[in-house]
This record gives sequence, C-alpha cells and structure tokens, in this order.
Amino acid sequence: MKIMAINCGSSSLKFKLYEMPEEKVLTSGLFERIGMKMGDYVFKQDGTKDVTEIALPDHSVAVEILLKELIRRNIIKSLDEIKGVGHRVVQGGKYFTESALVTEESKAHVKELIDLAPLHNKAHLIGVEAFEKALPNVKQIFVFDTAYHNRGMEPEAYMYAVPYYWYTEYGIRKYGAHGTSHEYIANEYARLTNQDVTKLKIVSCHIGNGASICANMYGKCKDTSMGLTPLEGIPMGTRTGNIDPTVVSYICEKENKDPKTVVNELNKKSGYLGVSEISSDCRDLEDAIALGNERAKLTLDIQAKRIADYIGSYYVLMEGIDAICFSAGIGENSPYVRKIICDRLKVLGVKIDDNLNTGRGIPFRFSTPDSKIDIWNIPTDEEVVIARDTLRLTQK
Ligand code: AMP
Repeated sequence: MKIMAINCGSSSLKFKLYEMPEEKVLTSGLFERIGMKMGDYVFKQDGTKDVTEIALPDHSVAVEILLKELIRRNIIKSLDEIKGVGHRVVQGGKYFTESALVTEESKAHVKELIDLAPLHNKAHLIGVEAFEKALPNVKQIFVFDTAYHNRGMEPEAYMYAVPYYWYTEYGIRKYGAHGTSHEYIANEYARLTNQDVTKLKIVSCHIGNGASICANMYGKCKDTSMGLTPLEGIPMGTRTGNIDPTVVSYICEKENKDPKTVVNELNKKSGYLGVSEISSDCRDLEDAIALGNERAKLTLDIQAKRIADYIGSYYVLMEGIDAICFSAGIGENSPYVRKIICDRLKVLGVKIDDNLNTGRGIPFRFSTPDSKIDIWNIPTDEEVVIARDTLRLTQK
C-alpha cells in the first residue's frame, strides 16, 4: 500500500512516498519557493536526483505537479494507489496526544492553534486542503510534533510558574516540539541495542537548525527543552533559546521597538547567527573555528554548555541515564559538536572514543566500553513515523 508523508512549510512542501508496511521509500523530494516569482522542485528516485525550475504560485499547484510527476515517472500507475496522506503538524496544543484523522473538527483545532505556530500550522492546513482537493477520497492524517510530549509530560514539567489563569485562559504551558523525532530516536536506540524502550532512560539530542533535548523515560517524554513555542531551550541556528524575559522590555526601551519585533529578533537573528555574526549554519562556524575565529568557537561553546546543562538536569530528573543519542543535521554530522558536548559530561561517567566519533548519516555507538552511559549517533526519520501512523489510522 502506498502512503505519502508530507511536511508543508509556508513556502515549501517536502514529500516521501512509501510502500507500506515494508517502509520502502519509492521517491522523495521537495518543492521550494512556493508563492514566489520562480520556484523549483526536486525529485529523488533510485539514487538519482533532478531539479526542475517552475513557477509555483501556491501549494495546490505544487500538489498537482507532484501527483502528475508520480505517474509520468512511472512511480505509480494511478492515483488510486495512494491510500493515505500523513501531514506533519508542528503544534497540536492540548488537543492531541496521538496522531489524528483529518476531519472538520481536527482541522478546526489545528486552525485554532495558529497563534502558537503562526508560520507552521497555517502552512500545514494549506497543504491538507491542497491534497483534499486533489485526492478527495483519500484519508488524511495529522501527525503532531507535540503529541509525544503531551502524552508523557506531567504538569510539573509542562506548567510554567506564572499566574495560573494564563494557563486556564490562554493555554500558556510547555508543549515542546520535535516529538516525532524524539520518539523515533528513543525507539530506534532500543531496537538497535535489542532492549525494551519501556525499561530505558534515554536523552535524545535533536540538534539541527532547530534544536531540542528530550528526557525519554520508559518510553515516554518526561521533559523536553522547547516550550510554548520552539523558541525555548538551547540556542539554535537563529533562535536564542532560554533568556531572561526582561531582555525583551529592556531592548524595546533602548531601541524603541515593540515586543513583537524583539521576539522576532530572538527567533530569526539570534542563536548561532546572532552571537557569531558569521552564519546560522554550523558548517560555516566549524570552518571559521578551523581558521582560528574565537567568536565562532564561543558560539558553539555556548550551545554545548547549555546542552550539557539540560543533560545534567535530566540525569537528576530520571535518576540516571542509560543512553544519550545525537541526531538531526548537526547531531548526525558534526563530530566536533558531539565531542564538545560529551567532553562536558565526564562527571557522569561519559567516555567517548574519538576514533569512533567520525561517522555520519548512519547509526553508530561512539562511547568506550567502560563509559557509564551509552553514546550513539542515530539519524532521525520523522517521515517514517508519519507513514507508520498514517498506515495505522487509515486501516482503522
Ligand atoms: P537540519 O535542520 O536538521 O536540517 O540541520 C541543519 C544544520 O545541520 C545546519 O546548521 C547545518 O550546518 C548542519 N550540518 C549539516 N551537515 C553538517 C556537517 N557535515 N557538519 C556540521 N554541520 C552540518
């Protein structure tokens, strides 16, 4: 059975078509610069990749092209072969603890949550509507980044110490993000090491352009670093992570700005980019460090310290850690970042083998046999979780 996994951004649409339940990827790709003067799409199939430039006025056009290309490229013979479409959704708020069928009711909830993830949730709904138009008889599924956290976290982890009615009136609490990725990483670690995830204490470090840490205890999220929005937690490509909220009103006064503008700067002009004044891209910072740039080094040191702080606090929270797993663009690909984090964890008995900490893109262990915590690199795969949930819910 063919299942499509979709991740719609405000100007992009990523897709992966699976043969399920085999989990075989038939094709994948990306439509970019939707809504701009000129866009393009990338198709990957059988180890080849091609790029086509074309105007993509909106997401519906991208979906139409995608479906036509699947047939033209002989990936499917008829659209009837697609039995389900799963959509990644960043914010499911308090409503969803599991993936859900797309219905008028679930769409209304996703719409209601647009304020908490303005760019993302709006784009997801546009994507859903484009597929509803193109494949009206095919079941569609929402797969929420927040569901894993919402299912596992206790109030002591998700409540902020603010006036209580902010929670009851406005839903102010921690929702977290990257839940699909954290759940996948924890399960994958258990599978690779032949252990039962419900008996393990695992810290997953999803370190990409967006980055979050999760305490996965006995198969559930015990706590995670992102908050009401993906701005909380550790520093990221352009996001600040935790700061004293007073900074916002202070900068508003000093620079005669409004809070929205300053929060936008915390989201888009901070993190790696803000501190280094070089780039939001980790590769550029590593290149600069190799040339002796101190600010680039400071940027990654700040992030390593904050990540180690989280891991230390999760060690206390879970009363121990069995494994720490690195994932996402930086976690999977940067031996340098993995090392500067692990070097700060010696007090927990973490020992890594620099000769093993060299790989990328595949799962591997790089702790020494006498390390008290098992340290792994585990490439994440959010799309396969979307495909699995979509298969499960379309068969219900
Ligand atoms: P993601 O958001 O998961 O796609 O991750 C994007 C981040 O991964 C960017 O900061 C990239 O610089 C980083 N990245 C990708 N490849 C490498 C690499 N080989 N070394 C260091 N960072 C990398």
